This record gives sequence, structure tokens and C-alpha cells, in this order.
Amino acid sequence: MSLALATPPFAILPNATPVSVADRGLMLENPGFGRVFTDHMAIVRYSAGKGWHDARLTARAPLQIDPACSVLHYAQEIFEGMKAYRAADGSVVLFRPEANAARFNDSARRMAMPELPEGLFLEAVEQLIRIDRDWIPAVEGGSLYLRPFMFANEVFLGVKPSSEYLFLVIASSVGAYFKGGREAVSLWVSEHYTRAAPGGTGAAKCGGNYAASLAAQAEAIEHGCDQVVFLDAAERKWVEELGGMNIFFVFDDGSIITPPLGTILPGITRDSIMTIARADGIELREEAYSIDQWKADAASGKLREAFACGTAAVVTPIGEVHSTDGRFTIGAGGAGQVTSRIKQSLVAIQRGEAPDRFGWVRPVIQG
Ligand SMILES: *Cc1c(COP(=O)(O)O)cnc(C)c1O
Repeated sequence: MSLALATPPFAILPNATPVSVADRGLMLENPGFGRVFTDHMAIVRYSAGKGWHDARLTARAPLQIDPACSVLHYAQEIFEGMKAYRAADGSVVLFRPEANAARFNDSARRMAMPELPEGLFLEAVEQLIRIDRDWIPAVEGGSLYLRPFMFANEVFLGVKPSSEYLFLVIASSVGAYFKGGREAVSLWVSEHYTRAAPGGTGAAKCGGNYAASLAAQAEAIEHGCDQVVFLDAAERKWVEELGGMNIFFVFDDGSIITPPLGTILPGITRDSIMTIARADGIELREEAYSIDQWKADAASGKLREAFACGTAAVVTPIGEVHSTDGRFTIGAGGAGQVTSRIKQSLVAIQRGEAPDRFGWVRPVIQG
């Protein structure tokens, strides 16, 4: 086994000054998304020649990095997003974490970063959940959002893959992703900006994709919409995905389509929904769908529902689509029946309320 693939043991250094039980209780009352952080973090170092080493579970604290740290200049950075849930039987579970570990390495390869042994990825995530288990909010839809990430840490301004990296996992107590629990979101069709081109980084979960999506997202907000939806870079015709969510279309004959992989991010929620729908006898196709067809099908009633999906926002109905040449409404503009049913099936598996018929649920702490 090469040095890079050996899994170092974690040194466990508990936070000496954790947040008090009373303060934590207040923080967990209405956590929102991505603002409340736990007491600890996992951190592992990589150096060329030495591989992964110095694995620690330690107090969450600011990092000290050199101003010439390469990630600050050339953006070699990747991340994952996953949730730990408290299941009906009191156990704490992860949903398909092996898929996140595998995708992390796919992203690493695309960004010329070292792979992380999947066992080390899972160990870091699970150790953090165990030590910060009391941070899972008891609110409806609450979970512990895990954010594994890796960045280039060499002090060098030359352009090349870094010889040093840090891998970290931080955790955030979260409630609902969209504020106000709104029924459906509105989308703005980006005409000036694209998210990803063939051969680019669209399928890698890297921070740079998000940086490039922000101007388009700002345009969506300016036009009174919640989220941006991107079209393909080559023809500006085919619907790809939102800034951070995949998309599905539900038709009057009961069939569903979702854009094919390639330039989009291969969502684990997307894959899970495809699997559940097919197992339930729904005809589900991965097929290119154009913005013009979308508009025409919404007008004729052939398109009944559309929804976006991802770990953070789960399944979110799409009510309206706006663009420079007007707007159209999908169905009645709210949550459709098929969307609601798919969301229910997925959430029930994730929370241990339905049989784990696909072997997706991994217990981290027994109930
Ligand atoms: C993470 C992400 C998704 C959703 O992926 P999940 O694995 O379902 O959370 C979709 N699109 C983009 C651009 C993403 O970064």
C-alpha cells in the first residue's frame, strides 16, 4: 500500500471549553442553515512524499495559513455535503456516505489533488458526529450537516498542483434550507452566464464552481427569483441544473426526466430519487430537455411538476420560471403530488422511518 493510501489513526483532543449546554440549547432552537457550528473539527495533513498524516479530532478553531497559500490564489479546493440524522429509534445515521467519499475522490482527481482513502474520509466524519452528537437539533427537519473539504496549502505562487493539502471536516446544526418553509421556489433562467462547459469542472464539487455561479444567482435575486437555473454552455438551450441542486421534470403520463450526467454535478440525491422512482415503477429517463420545450410543456399542461434536489435542500418544488422574455408557471405553482410523494419516500428512508430497501443507511451511533 502506498503512503498516500495508509490510514493514520486519529488523535482525539476534546475541546477544553465547549459551548455550555444552555447556550447550545438556544443556538439549536432555530438554527437555519450553515450558521451554527459545533465544538470540534477533524483535520488531516498531506505532504508529497509523506502522504496523509497527523489526523486529529480537535477543538474547532481558526486556521493559520500563509498569505501565499496556494488555495488563496489558484483555488485548488473541493468539498462534500452530507447530513447525519437522528433516526426514529434514537440512533444516529448517515445516508450513503460511501458515495460522498467516492465522489470526493472523483473531484480530487479532476482538480489534480491527492485522493483520500475512503476509510479515512468516513472515519473523520463519524468521529466528528460521535463527539458532537448533542448538536443534532431536535427541530422538525433538523440534522447535523457535515462539510468535509480539502484545499491546497503549499506556500508557493508558481502554478502547479500543490505539494501540501489539508483535509478537514466541520459540522453545522441545521434546520430547513429555505427560510420561511416556502412551498415552491421560483427560478431565473441565466442567459449571460453558464455554469460549466464540456471538459470543464462542472462534475467536480469544487468551490470555484460556486464562485462562478454567484453573479448569476445575484441576477436571479435582482429579478425577484429564489434560484438561478443554468443552460448548457455550448448551445444555451439545454437545462442543466441550479447553482447547487439537480432538477427533475414530471409529465402528465407519469414519466419523469432529469438531465444526463456530463457537465452537471452527479448528485447523490439525484441518484437516490432515480433509484426510488424506478423501483416504484415510474418511467424515469436521463434525457436532455430544452428551455423552449419546458416553456411549451408548462403551457400545454404536459409538464405537471418540476423539482430541484440536493442534500441541503432535500426536494424542493419549482413553482415559476422567469427569464428575459417573460415567465411561466408549472402546474398550480405549488408542491405537486409526485414531488411530495418522492420527497416523503426519500426522507422516510433517510430518517429510518421506512425500510432501508436499498442499503443506504449507515448507523454511526446505536440508539
Ligand atoms: C452538491 C451539489 C448538488 C447536489 O448533490 P447531492 O449529492 O444530492 O447533495 C447538485 N449540484 C451541485 C452543483 C452541487 O454542488
